[in-house]
Amino acid sequence: MSAQAVSPIRTLDKNGEVITSVGFQRFGFDCEVPLDVLRSLYLRPHYVITASQADESKQSEETEHAKFTGAYGAYQSKSIFHPDTQSISYTTLSRFPPVKLLPPSQRKRILVTGGAGFVGSHLVDRLMILGHEVTVLDNFFTGSKTTVSHWVGHPNFEMVRHDVVEPFMIECDQIYHLACPASPPHYQFNAVKTIKTSFMGTLNMLGLAKRTKARFLITSTSEVYGDPEVHPQHEDYWGHVNPIGPRACYDEGKRVAETLTYGFHRQDGVDIRVARIFNTYGPRMNPFDGRVVSNFIVQALRGEDMTVYGDGKQTRSFQYIHDLVDGLIALMNSDETRPVNLGNGDEFTIGDFAELVRDIVEKVQREDGVEPPRRVNIIYKPMPMDDPQKRRPDTTRAKTVLDWEPRWTVRMGLEEMVRYYKAKMIEGSL
Ligand code: NAD
Ligand code: UDP
Repeated sequence: MSAQAVSPIRTLDKNGEVITSVGFQRFGFDCEVPLDVLRSLYLRPHYVITASQADESKQSEETEHAKFTGAYGAYQSKSIFHPDTQSISYTTLSRFPPVKLLPPSQRKRILVTGGAGFVGSHLVDRLMILGHEVTVLDNFFTGSKTTVSHWVGHPNFEMVRHDVVEPFMIECDQIYHLACPASPPHYQFNAVKTIKTSFMGTLNMLGLAKRTKARFLITSTSEVYGDPEVHPQHEDYWGHVNPIGPRACYDEGKRVAETLTYGFHRQDGVDIRVARIFNTYGPRMNPFDGRVVSNFIVQALRGEDMTVYGDGKQTRSFQYIHDLVDGLIALMNSDETRPVNLGNGDEFTIGDFAELVRDIVEKVQREDGVEPPRRVNIIYKPMPMDDPQKRRPDTTRAKTVLDWEPRWTVRMGLEEMVRYYKAKMIEGSL
């Protein structure tokens, strides 16, 4: 294979154990996948650990794992930037990544709305590798075909350009309803469209679930708690949302989407699941979506000033994408119909978080033999209106009913995300 690792990646979880796989067996639905298999789909090959680089002395499990990862170069198409003509060429895949061969009784037909977005594309990777039939429905407002292009043409995969505000018919067993812009600049870009997507999109997908008797999971948000007066936020807290502020199109949109979901559940017996997702980050986040993690990393990598809004004392808790996908799949396959918070309890002030990101970017640059020319500055800009002051999930319910808790430390997740953006810069697409 063509991979030449700059340095093999060793990722440690919160207990200091090496992470070699993500997912687990829960509720009869296996969602375990080797981490390197997933990585091969988003990190450039030179960051993927290869068989030859795996430590020979490690147990047979790791050797097997390395064998499996050995052929990765074949599963990654390349985008090659030509600076002289300012053009980009894409190579095609010779083979698809291997997927599990499931008996028809276990293979599910799964619809993922918003499947070309950041969270959706990682969920699609996992469901595809696990051997299910996946249909992505997306209007590509904030998502991009490139996030799932490695599956296009696969017999288990279908991608449909469609806006969820219009009805859609398909036969399916499970619906993950994610379609909705998630970053404040994106959802505020067209506030009326955002609330329409939340309400009509959810109405249409619930109607589909009712007709097909599919199980329906909606990705709600910590924004339903607004600028919370209860800390940390547990699911029984009703929230503190400004219904007419700039964030209302999203916050109230998600609140009414939850109301609709419980309406269909009570009136029509639709089998529902509600995930309240807290700030999540990871590779494939749109680098220009204005969210804090993507902003800070891109600014630091480019040597630009990092922009903290307000005095930087507001807090957020950041969850890595693979933990979230574990939680979503566990919730979908559990019996829990109450809302469930999915987030990481490690809380940072945004000011401290800026310093952490700056340190990690410098660390990854040094690992690659590049000495950062200077420390980038952290500068302060006005605080956006209605910006929540504190946010941290109470994940007791997820722990109790799903046996789920985050495994990734913020540092480990950030390192991986910095590598992803850095590779994009080298490739010329950032
Ligand atoms: P994203 O913007 O990357 O993805 C959203 C996807 O939905 C995009 O592919 C977009 O093109 C698609 N979409 C938007 N409007 C649509 C429409 N009308 N019809 C069809 N497709 C449409 O955002 P994300 O971070 O991947 O978020 C996914 C879901 O998770 C959203 O529902 C969001 O509210 C929820 N969520 C995310 C976070 C987070 O931190 N990432 C936090 C809380 C909740
Ligand atoms: N933020 C910041 N600098 C940025 C982008 C965001 O200081 O360049 C702040 C923002 O004001 C908020 C926090 O970081 O307090 C998280 O913002 P994000 O848009 O990522 O998510 P949300 O506010 O929806 O949690």
